[in-house]
Amino acid sequence: MSLHLPTLLIVTVLAYLVFGLFQIAMWQLRREREGQLLWGFSNLAGALGGSLLLLRGMIPDFISIALANGLLILAHSLMWAGLRRFSGQPVHWWLVWAAPLLLAGLFWGFPPVAGNPPARTCVLALFMLLFSVANFADAWRAQRLEPLVMRRLVMTVFLVTCVFMMDRALYMLQQSGSPAEYLLIHPRQTLSALVALLIVTVWNLSILMMASERLANRLTSLAHSDGLTRALNRMGFRALAVRQVQRCRRDRKPISVLLLDLDHFKKINDNHGHEAGDRLLCAFAATMGEMIRPGDLLARYGGEEFCVLLPETGLAEATAVGERLRERFATVRIRADEAVIGTTVSIGVAQFLGGEMIDDAVSRADRALYQAKHRGRNRVETTDTITELAPA
Ligand code: GH3
Ligand code: MG
Ligand code: MG
Repeated sequence: MSLHLPTLLIVTVLAYLVFGLFQIAMWQLRREREGQLLWGFSNLAGALGGSLLLLRGMIPDFISIALANGLLILAHSLMWAGLRRFSGQPVHWWLVWAAPLLLAGLFWGFPPVAGNPPARTCVLALFMLLFSVANFADAWRAQRLEPLVMRRLVMTVFLVTCVFMMDRALYMLQQSGSPAEYLLIHPRQTLSALVALLIVTVWNLSILMMASERLANRLTSLAHSDGLTRALNRMGFRALAVRQVQRCRRDRKPISVLLLDLDHFKKINDNHGHEAGDRLLCAFAATMGEMIRPGDLLARYGGEEFCVLLPETGLAEATAVGERLRERFATVRIRADEAVIGTTVSIGVAQFLGGEMIDDAVSRADRALYQAKHRGRNRVETTDTITELAPA
């Protein structure tokens, strides 16, 4: 079976074109999708560059060689710019433009390269190799800050591109001086064109999936968090708490829950306004967020009621944590007009019993909270007896 090189190039141009239009259309739908417009233009630059390459002999060499290859490098530099934007890294625009201009200059005005087709292909592969290395390194750094499953696929594609470009550059170095016609009929060229087509396709699909993964993560996080305090909401709390409870059960570790309710909060609203009340709620959530451990879960359970899940924590320890939160919050103050205001918190504690569901443990903590309110507020209470409890 033999593959027809111009047909492969036409298919690659069409793939660039379709992906380019698709990326731009998706950007139009959600303009905040970082990097997507640049990926769209990157593909269009690739489509234009490839088309000009195909018109070799029918249009002036300056266009079909220097400009066409410059556009192919622009496709890579814009892809790099898009990925940096996607990852929140600064885009080095001078490099994005300088690389294609430098390559076009070499292909046009530097005879050792301009008049030697294998040398041109070698230089082109080296430029593409540099962008693939930069993309891989950037993605590696970004992955540590925001792990995305699909970014691993993107990184793999760049790694494959690096190997492919390195191999191509080395091969072309050995062919230096061969006429262009020899290169065009060599079976290796058709194989290279096929790999290039695959790279363009997988490249685009993997970045599209990576962008969708980020969007899905953001939507889940929005759906699971409280808009005012940024703590988890009930739904988010349940989703994460189930996993923690199961893990602690499996490891035969205790797990406890605190239910916290601000004291006389209605008075704060009545005396200082709803906006001051909101700020006090945020101050409370922030204070607790600072004091709990990374694996603990903090949720806003109702208006001025919060819930904290403490994995690997028994009743006595959980009561001590509640005591520390209570003491610390009693010292928190915010400014409201001319006044400096604050309030206290009452806390109910419960340890999960064997096989108990989240709602059951929370409702026992709620009973303890009621007791704390009843006994004068600004207290930590439990209805459990420490000695009765075995791990959940
Ligand atoms: P207690 O010590 O018995 O808990 O008294 P309380 O006044 O805190 O309790 P109550 O349940 O009577 O009042 C809760 C108040 O919390 C009523 C409501 O206006 C206020 N609240 C609920 N959600 C919000 C909110 O998002 N922002 C503000 N500013 N206030 C809220
Ligand atoms: Mg209250
Ligand atoms: Mg309340």
